[in-house]
Amino acid sequence: MSRFWSPFVKGLVPYVPGEQPKMHKLTKLNTNENPYGPSPKVLAAIQGELGDDLRRYPDPNSDLLKAAIADYHGVDVAQVFVGNGSDEVLAHIFHGLFQHGKPLLFPDITYSFYPVYCGLYGIPYEAIPLDESFQIRVGDYTGMKGGIIFPNPNAPTGSFLPLAEIERLLMVNTETVVVIDEAYVDFGGESAICLVDRFPNLLVTQTLSKSRSLAGLRVGFAVGHPDLIEALERIKNSFNSYPLDRLAQRGAVASFADQAYFEQCQQAVISERDELVKALTALDFEVLPSAANFVFCRHSRRDAAALAADLREDGVIVRHFKQARIEQFLRITIGRPEENAVLLASLQAILAD
Ligand code: PMP
Repeated sequence: MSRFWSPFVKGLVPYVPGEQPKMHKLTKLNTNENPYGPSPKVLAAIQGELGDDLRRYPDPNSDLLKAAIADYHGVDVAQVFVGNGSDEVLAHIFHGLFQHGKPLLFPDITYSFYPVYCGLYGIPYEAIPLDESFQIRVGDYTGMKGGIIFPNPNAPTGSFLPLAEIERLLMVNTETVVVIDEAYVDFGGESAICLVDRFPNLLVTQTLSKSRSLAGLRVGFAVGHPDLIEALERIKNSFNSYPLDRLAQRGAVASFADQAYFEQCQQAVISERDELVKALTALDFEVLPSAANFVFCRHSRRDAAALAADLREDGVIVRHFKQARIEQFLRITIGRPEENAVLLASLQAILAD
């Protein structure tokens, strides 16, 4: 802290360094990464990029990648925007599309970056409580607003809204930008991309960090009406934001070409999730229904912060949020079968104590 810091900077909470530990022996189930590596074809494509061309700047428009995304999702290239991770895509959306002086609406239990971006860009917001079963109630998103955003499936709860509910929300919110953040959609949700042609105020964001195992490459994208996409391009250019680098563009394109590997990992995570839910339930956890690559659960007797600390002692890292209403929950990323077995054995020992 220094006297040169503005009150805003003083209020910023640093990212908990413990969430990305440097030790390798840990069972790391705290940041919703994919437990399986990227497709071998992606790795080969990146290797293929490691040559003399690295001295050249990358394609500033990521044309091949936009074409791959457009093709995969059955939309036009003009409906696709790409960024360095969906966090960057979201940053541009907040900065450029939610600046109306009216409150942005999002759930009170949701992705923690939304209020951070609001603080960064001076956007007023209103956090709408989830209902008693931790679900988003679309009927609550009414009144004066400068935009609406939520993840579907939501994070950290894992619960998802059916497409019909998203449609219902869009029918009554035609005058404001609505963003559906689909970081986890491939693990059980339904994408709203099929609605972008009908609703010119809809932006759907996705990431290659989760279902495509490429968190380290930093690739995310938005799909929406060409006018919204053009707005994002202008915002990005005016900040002179970095284009995706050569390795990211090449690897991401290759990922969309390897559907078989994608589905294999997707199915493995989903079936492991089912197993983990059963095992946690048997250990007296209440597990919220999850359509994501993590589960959100609370134990019937034990304090969540203490459980997280005990697990960490055992080398197993899960996520605990010190936030009202969810402080008794743990968010656990679905790992490989052997990682989940380590987690369960550790939990069993802790609970037997
Ligand atoms: N949205 C949600 C809901 C997330 O949980 C995350 C990952 N933490 C992101 C967006 C950002 O993902 P990335 O920047 O890796 O694409």
